[in-house]
Amino acid sequence: MHETLHIVGFSGGIDSQACARWVLNRFPADQVVLINSDAGGNEHPITTAFIEWYSANIYPVMMVKPIVADMAGRAKGKIKELGLQPDDPLTFDLLAILKQRWPSSRAQFCTEHLKLLPQKRVIEKLWPDREVIRYAGVRRDESRRRASACFETWDEYFDCELHHPIADWTKQMCFGYVQAHGEKINELYTLGFNRVGCAPCINSGKDDIRAWADRSPEMIDKIREWEKRVGRTFFAPKVPGMAINWIDDVVAWSKTVNGGRQLGLHVLQQRPSCESKYGLCE
Ligand code: SF4
Repeated sequence: MHETLHIVGFSGGIDSQACARWVLNRFPADQVVLINSDAGGNEHPITTAFIEWYSANIYPVMMVKPIVADMAGRAKGKIKELGLQPDDPLTFDLLAILKQRWPSSRAQFCTEHLKLLPQKRVIEKLWPDREVIRYAGVRRDESRRRASACFETWDEYFDCELHHPIADWTKQMCFGYVQAHGEKINELYTLGFNRVGCAPCINSGKDDIRAWADRSPEMIDKIREWEKRVGRTFFAPKVPGMAINWIDDVVAWSKTVNGGRQLGLHVLQQRPSCESKYGLCE
């Protein structure tokens, strides 16, 4: 009889890192699995390097790659037309080509096809009969949608218990917790980013988009290339009623204030080396 397996989705962001530490502090190591599914090549290399560092120095992270089979029977016509095989890698831009649109906050299918389905595929293959509890670093103050997140619920998708042990924590508490355990954090936070899962995330706000453009313009170049390949804009309209969709327009908007009419003061100032609002260099 095997013990219950405690599985944490590990993205390289602070919330999943704090959640992983919470689980590792409570259960024997041989009953804990940290699992990361890459976002089809949409991570920043700093995040990938951080996960490798964590895996080598703190606790091993199982790395999973999304594949065309993770489309789960959808976009069959396009898959056939492009001559794709089930084991072919499913990249972020290929996902948009197959769906004939980019994901958005209202249709966040990137999470399903690039994160959830690949992890489900691997969990079912490796531990078909084992009782599993999943843990996610969801926090209530992250967004309105998560404001009512409970500590425990039933996950219909994975057919197991789902726990949110840090639901009532702040982001600052997450940083304090992992640092008190001697863990490094993803360097992107010290560069001023709020979200580090994808570079950029489809839900990125003005500050993050401006930070990507200033700190890592190659991420903007990547999106420009993807937009050309897919023929559609990566971001949904940023300002209702204004045609701010294509990546260069979105970057220009990210540097403005007053509803996009005026350049912000921050554009004229040089960025300091540590911009984190969480006091990470103190
Ligand atoms: S981080 Fe954002 S873009 Fe990446 S998979 Fe999640 S929702 Fe999609």
